[in-house]
Amino acid sequence: MNIDKYRVPYDGSFKISKTDPGDSGKFESKDEAAEKLKENVKKMAELQDKMYAHDKYGLLLIFQAMDAAGKDGAIKHVMSGLNPQGTQVFSFKNPSAEELDHDYLWRINKSLPERGRIGIFNRSHYEEVLVVKVHDLQGKQKLPPEMVTNKIWDHRYRQIKDFERYLYENGIITVKFFLNVSKSEQKKRFLQRLDDPTKNWKFSSSDLKERGFWDEYQKAYEECLNGTSTKYGPWYVIPADKKWYARLLISEVITQTLESFEMDYPKLNDEQMRALEGYRQQLMAEKD
Ligand code: ATP
Ligand code: MG
Repeated sequence: MNIDKYRVPYDGSFKISKTDPGDSGKFESKDEAAEKLKENVKKMAELQDKMYAHDKYGLLLIFQAMDAAGKDGAIKHVMSGLNPQGTQVFSFKNPSAEELDHDYLWRINKSLPERGRIGIFNRSHYEEVLVVKVHDLQGKQKLPPEMVTNKIWDHRYRQIKDFERYLYENGIITVKFFLNVSKSEQKKRFLQRLDDPTKNWKFSSSDLKERGFWDEYQKAYEECLNGTSTKYGPWYVIPADKKWYARLLISEVITQTLESFEMDYPKLNDEQMRALEGYRQQLMAEKD
């Protein structure tokens, strides 16, 4: 599958109005995509196993989206084939008083994946240039007032880019997904949530309130994606109206990313191989 057209270019030319949340590539139905998804889940598991053994790279997957775009479901699906010991998931909510007492990357740093592991962020430091920007929350953060100017967003884009580049140069590779759901599909999913007793607990008044800021969020996303898509941390815009396609595309991006890492299982030297032979003989010599 060609994932290039979903990657946000690094030159600031991305236009959210040109995207199609209903896109499903060359796939027409869930059934058609199912086999490819299964294949990818298997490949991801094999590559994760190799990454764990190689123990040099870490992979950080960031998920951002409007409510009901399918972040949780996509994460669940991606995780389904992976070894839980090699993965870590973190959800970032409204920062606590302790978190606000620190710089905004503090809580992010504490949650980064170890080498050999896949870290998944359900929301992330990107909230600092999305919800914070849409609702003008920067004044409530404990920043020195002279730092809170109209340059703050450009400064944050730069800080985030520098941070992700630093991680990249240290073997922790960041890939970012924006699940791009349409406003009409969000409405449909909200209504379904309200009708479904297994899902209505998820609905909160803030979901509707944020929906009221749809255009502001679209603008903030466009600016954020243009400001922070780099080869050290590319953004992928995932059409999310068809959940099955979103999951397939995410699995494809992860698989291709893992395939691009130069890694192998550790090779044993002659001495270690001789030791293994010794262990084999010891086991074979046992009486029962
Ligand atoms: P779901 O609703 O599917 O369970 P969610 O990710 O929307 O998942 P919520 O608990 O509903 O989780 O919302 C978390 C809220 O925290 C979001 O509204 C988000 O914008 C907010 N949030 C996250 N990080 C920050 C931040 N740095 N500053 C301010 N708000 C933040
Ligand atoms: Mg929510």
